[in-house]
Amino acid sequence: MHIHTLLTQLGRDTARTAQSINPPLVRASTVLFERLADYKQAHHQRQFDSLQYGRSGTSTTFDLQRAMAALTGAETCLATASGLAAITAVLTAHAGPGKHLLLNEGVYGPTRIFCETELASLGTAVDFFPNDAEDITPYLRDNTSLVYIEAPTSLTMEMLDVRKICAAAHRRDIPVAADATWGTPVFFKPQELGVDITIHSAAKFINGHSDVMLGLVLGSEKNLAGTRRVCGRYGAHAAPDTCWLALRGLRTLGVRMARHQESALVVARWLLQQQQVKRVMFPALESDPGHALWRDQFSGAGGPFTFELATCSETAFAAFIDALQLFGLGTGWGGFESLALPAVPYHLRALSTLPDEGRLVRLHIGLEDPSDLCEDLAQALKMVK
Ligand SMILES: *Cc1c(COP(=O)(O)O)cnc(C)c1O
Repeated sequence: MHIHTLLTQLGRDTARTAQSINPPLVRASTVLFERLADYKQAHHQRQFDSLQYGRSGTSTTFDLQRAMAALTGAETCLATASGLAAITAVLTAHAGPGKHLLLNEGVYGPTRIFCETELASLGTAVDFFPNDAEDITPYLRDNTSLVYIEAPTSLTMEMLDVRKICAAAHRRDIPVAADATWGTPVFFKPQELGVDITIHSAAKFINGHSDVMLGLVLGSEKNLAGTRRVCGRYGAHAAPDTCWLALRGLRTLGVRMARHQESALVVARWLLQQQQVKRVMFPALESDPGHALWRDQFSGAGGPFTFELATCSETAFAAFIDALQLFGLGTGWGGFESLALPAVPYHLRALSTLPDEGRLVRLHIGLEDPSDLCEDLAQALKMVK
């Protein structure tokens, strides 16, 4: 079956017991068992895959996990409290004294900060390789336990050659994890490029309505064994309510992504024509340096993307942001409403090469009519002389 059919069918096994289209929402802390033998047996099952105690999930959690696993061809899926909880669980599972983690430059800011603070203090060495590295082999060490990538990079939207990176890591038997939030399962299939562990912040496009925090990790049972243990020990549990909402969001992911892509391209192309706009960083644009890699590895792009404003004062920049009417000002993306955000929060800045005067703005293009969005941007751009 095609992905658009699967999105409507998967993860509804327990709906049969409720005689409904959507599966029931089952909330629990305590899970009750009939007999001691049942209780004992349940506690010998894998955590996050079986009914034990609320922290291990309920049928609602398993419905979503099974749907995501089937959708992406993964053996198993773990739902976590947030995207960041999913990321830190995967990193922690591969970290420890004497181990070395290799990440690409420009990964999501909190991912980098977690490595440089929490993991470094546990004795893990962490290095970052340039996104355009021809070959990552020189960056690998004998003790490298994980290569972690994010494509495109957060904020500056640089593309990576995922296939090449995976091949180099696998020559040394090193697993590769990828943050695939931007691509979504509709437009990006990292496992087909060689990625072993795929991570999504389901708070973004998968849920799609800006009202849930949730993370998902996908991969083989073997590759996720360590991550599953870490999730269990840290109590990185996803609430059934959020799993239920994300499963509902999944039903419309295909149609939403098509519209996000169509509108993001309209707005990005319009921005390219504006004199106050220096450049637009969006791999789906033919003019983007990452376009060829994007075409090769992705089947679409819903955004978000970033653009650089002409040099202007902080006052003019604030006037531009504040003049926007249809774009909300806030962190996050992937919902039905458009958002605009200054794209380089200085405390998260990883790339020292970015000029200080560069006024980067990250846009998430929602489901509004793109001509209304362009009109809104046009009136706000008047604030930038
Ligand atoms: C938002 C985001 C995350 C973090 O996910 P949360 O659910 O917000 O914790 C991770 N990676 C990328 C690329 C993101 O945009």
